[in-house]
Amino acid sequence: MATERKQIKQPKPLPAPNSDFYEFAADLPAEELAILKKVRAYAETKVQPIINKYWVEDSFPFELLPSFKELKIAGIGMDGYGCPGGSPLLGGLVAMELARTDASFATFFGVHSGLAMNSIYLNGTEEQKQKWLPPMARGEKIGCFALTEPLVGSGTAGGMTTTAKREGDSWVLNGQKRWIGNAPWCDISIVWARDVADNQVKGFVVENKTTAGFSVEKMQNKIALKVVQNGEITMKDCRIPDANRLQGGQGTFRDTANVLRGTRHYASWEITGTQMGAYENALKYAQERLQFGKPIGSFQLIQELLAKMLGNIVACQCMVARTVELEAKGKLTDAQAAIAKAFTTSKARETVSWAREALGGNGILVDYNVARFFADTEAIYSYEGTYQMQTLIVGKAITGFSAFV
Ligand SMILES: Cc1cc2nc3c(=O)[nH]c(=O)nc-3n(C[C@H](O)[C@H](O)[C@H](O)COP(=O)(O)OP(=O)(O)OC[C@H]3O[C@@H](n4cnc5c(N)ncnc54)[C@H](O)[C@@H]3O)c2cc1C
Repeated sequence: MATERKQIKQPKPLPAPNSDFYEFAADLPAEELAILKKVRAYAETKVQPIINKYWVEDSFPFELLPSFKELKIAGIGMDGYGCPGGSPLLGGLVAMELARTDASFATFFGVHSGLAMNSIYLNGTEEQKQKWLPPMARGEKIGCFALTEPLVGSGTAGGMTTTAKREGDSWVLNGQKRWIGNAPWCDISIVWARDVADNQVKGFVVENKTTAGFSVEKMQNKIALKVVQNGEITMKDCRIPDANRLQGGQGTFRDTANVLRGTRHYASWEITGTQMGAYENALKYAQERLQFGKPIGSFQLIQELLAKMLGNIVACQCMVARTVELEAKGKLTDAQAAIAKAFTTSKARETVSWAREALGGNGILVDYNVARFFADTEAIYSYEGTYQMQTLIVGKAITGFSAFV
């Protein structure tokens, strides 16, 4: 009897998909690792079960906001003002972790925390930080970042058309902004406008819901990042108190660029997470899907696809891990952030298309998640500065010649 029992071989359990192949999370100190694990649990148990439905419907999961507030990650990397602080590595890993489940939710978070809150953190006065950051850190007020315009995208530094005119203690804003994430429903907009007096771009904190002349129309028919609600903002003689002009910076486009340098490399973390989500879903599928009587993951050609995906992911992780080391030393340059955004987003296009391929027909069905990562990658390739803009920033730094125009 005993010998017979011995002969029944139990199949070896298959390895669980793990895209942190070089163990970056293990570099975090225990208390930061605990935060990351909390974010992973949140993404997997709260976001994942409902996100495909919202993605298909083109709508934002407001039901997630109460639990998002409890997560206490808004303002990550910022110290004081009710923000959670944390190392640049933690900030990157949190962005990556959210995007590993859903790039739209990671983008909602990135716009609120990395763009809107960071604009105030980097360019606000002490009084402005005290006023705006605590309610934003608590998630009571959600922000957006309004830079792009209908007629000016990549060329906003020199070509911005939205104007700001000082009249006594107020500023009058006129113009349009396009593609602004969170704008259709959020509370606070960081609006960048050109001062007609000195021709410099300045930042303004605009309270969307109470400012006369401020209106937002939700953009329709997107095929990527469908959960993020993007808006087209129109400002007609919006009167803003001077106290709402970001006065802690230089009052030039340099202030905007300082914010973008940070968010550009966080977009690199996000797109790395997007690749991880696509890869892990594809790997799981390959372990389960049978063809010719065998799991497709046992076929050499599918294993090659998976290994190539993981190679891209590890390369991107190594790159973004170095950008946060440079950031922690205060040394990250525009060109270093730009090459990370350009490289990671271009690699991501390969990774998600290989993941889609590994799923065959099911790769174009939202139900299997990979299609969502596949489509969302296209938006991240273009936002926070397109691939071409990033390469021009790098090109200028390495050759000494500007090829922008
Ligand atoms: C989903 C999504 C969310 C977004 N969220 C926000 C947001 O919250 N806030 C915000 O302010 N903006 C946001 N944007 C806007 C985004 O930053 C812009 O789409 C991006 O900067 C490119 O601008 P554009 O779309 O007008 O393209 P354009 O600038 O018109 O560029 C079109 C093409 O021409 C290329 N190109 C342009 N100039 C040159 C040149 N000199 N040399 C070579 N090639 C060139 C570009 O690389 C691109 O391929 C978002 C965009 C998307 C898609």
